[in-house]
Amino acid sequence: MSTNSNKPVFSCEFFPPRTDDGMEKLIDTHQQLKGTINPSFFSVTFGAGGTTRDRTLETVKQLRADGAQNIAPHISCMGSSKQQLSELLDTYISLGINRLVTLRGDIPKEGTPDNDFSYANELVSFIREKTGDHFHIEIAAYPEYHPESTSPVDDFNHFVNKARAGANSAITQYFYNIDAYAHFVERCERANLNIPIVPGIMPITNYASLVRFSDACGAEIPRWIRKQLEAYENDIDSLRAFGIDVVAELCNQLLVYGAPGLHFYTLNQAEATLSIWEKINK
Ligand code: FAD
Repeated sequence: MSTNSNKPVFSCEFFPPRTDDGMEKLIDTHQQLKGTINPSFFSVTFGAGGTTRDRTLETVKQLRADGAQNIAPHISCMGSSKQQLSELLDTYISLGINRLVTLRGDIPKEGTPDNDFSYANELVSFIREKTGDHFHIEIAAYPEYHPESTSPVDDFNHFVNKARAGANSAITQYFYNIDAYAHFVERCERANLNIPIVPGIMPITNYASLVRFSDACGAEIPRWIRKQLEAYENDIDSLRAFGIDVVAELCNQLLVYGAPGLHFYTLNQAEATLSIWEKINK
């Protein structure tokens, strides 16, 4: 079993809102999470195919104006040229950003656009070549394997290559089965890969969207959770209470196991994350 003597690091993820109302709500969510969890950083996603390049930047600026000190924009090479990414990196440096979540990115519904980079490891190398050690680089990890992976061995080897291209730490896709995470961490240890692997935590608040999203990203919802969520389909209060209990218990088990922190996929909502936080034994 892995152990971690350092204090766990908590972080929260947002997506760039589409409307002014959405931005106002996000700022309120930011204030609530900052006041209670005070995360080490807030990350801001980057839409599939570069569709939110400008809105991600705008969201970063708004959060900064709202007092966020540590912000980690996500950056992906899907649908962005080397030139565009280079300019974006310069902009982030000029804004005092020093952490990035570096990804290949989701493939847009319309199909794969022309890209200068094929995989995230190439983007990690490019950022290191261009900016040296300026950024703390986070990468994505998949304890239950990436949905496009051709084999578990290949997927893990690709992850190791990506990490060795210059990543400082990794954030996982969400999962509800701690064994998958423990297996992944232990595999990294055996490969002498010692970067922190921070579990991504997805609150459960809606059955249909969780199923849809989990199918797309390859996250398994264990049968006992799925059955109970199905039974609560028309009883949203019970569903949410059950979801909070399950996810808080997962967080506690992860911290006891020695996870180096937790990264909350907040979906721009404070309530579920704060309810889970209240139940975490710190
Ligand atoms: P990669 O590490 O490049 O891997 C993609 C696939 O290619 C894997 O199957 C891998 O095994 C395979 N592969 C890697 N290298 C090679 C190689 N050399 N040869 C052959 N195959 C290879 N998506 C967004 O669009 N925007 C976001 O903001 C965003 N944020 C995310 C944050 C986190 C924490 C996580 C876990 C995911 C996020 N995603 C985001 C989703 C992510 O972009 C998708 O899962 C995407 O499909 C893969 O991105 P990656 O960086 O993991 O890709």
